[in-house]
Amino acid sequence: MDKTDKIYVAGHRGMVGSAILRRLEREGYSKIILRTSDELDLRNQNKVQDFMEEEKPAYVFLAAAHVGGIGANDKYRAEFFYNNLMIEANVIHASYLSGVKKLMFLGSSCIYPKMANQPLKEEYILTGPLETTNEAYAIAKIAGLKMCEYYRHQYASNFISVMPTNLYGSNDNYDLEKSHVLPALLSKFHTARIENKSKVEVWGTGAPKREFLHVDDLADAALFLMQNYDEPGLVNIGTGKDISIMELANLIKDIVGFEGDIEFDSSKPDGTPRKLLDVDKLDRLGWHSKIELRQGISEVYSEIQNMKVLA
Ligand code: GDP
Repeated sequence: MDKTDKIYVAGHRGMVGSAILRRLEREGYSKIILRTSDELDLRNQNKVQDFMEEEKPAYVFLAAAHVGGIGANDKYRAEFFYNNLMIEANVIHASYLSGVKKLMFLGSSCIYPKMANQPLKEEYILTGPLETTNEAYAIAKIAGLKMCEYYRHQYASNFISVMPTNLYGSNDNYDLEKSHVLPALLSKFHTARIENKSKVEVWGTGAPKREFLHVDDLADAALFLMQNYDEPGLVNIGTGKDISIMELANLIKDIVGFEGDIEFDSSKPDGTPRKLLDVDKLDRLGWHSKIELRQGISEVYSEIQNMKVLA
């Protein structure tokens, strides 16, 4: 990928796409193509094909997706399925038709079976049933990564798929109904501190374990793989370390400076018990995460307070 190559970042206003865009700009890539969802509805096949034919990007980061936390994934299954399937099918097929040199599809660690051995190796995909709360999203993402695999097989397209673990960072979603756990807890503990509340409610039992990667680390890995990985087969992107939701809640409580209690609401779903990625493959390719969790969360907390994203 040269500095003057045309690069399309699909989903540049989302957390992942915006981090990739910041990184590309910092590195001096000068021909980046962007469209907001108002300008180009990626679910519309004709519009996507016309756009790709006209722009003819050489590289595509497919970071556009309909995403959300456990509550939204569970509740809006039809929307998560349809929107993600359409976006992927249209962008991947149009990339093939318009002669894109290389495409990176961003998936998710929820594509792995619910009860798979830990840490999750790339080859565990499709070896068992999925977690129900995010099955619709996971099946759509599996379709996307398989589509890349099939286009490589039949057309020799250099389309690669990467599976990031749970992400956090700038441009996250703080809407408590739709957000993931980390921004939700930052928001809840912050509000509780400001409003002098005695307790904060955390969903589930606190026992599930999750791995958290800063989205700037993800963007770094995405660029690294765009430059260095042209093989078939997924690549996991994570830190290789996880913590329980209870530990995360205590960490965020400490960072925010809340002094009350934590109350677990076990009527809310726990989701997958654990989804720690095996990052051996990425390790062997020569990439390792850099941003330590406490440091990363503290920086995000300062940023969102200054931006008044929170109450
Ligand atoms: P998941 O990794 O797909 O399950 O997505 P989430 O980030 O939404 O949830 C991770 C875990 O955090 C689940 O066990 C949730 O029940 C738990 N959790 C605890 N409190 C919250 C909260 O306020 N919001 C969300 N989204 N999850 C929470």
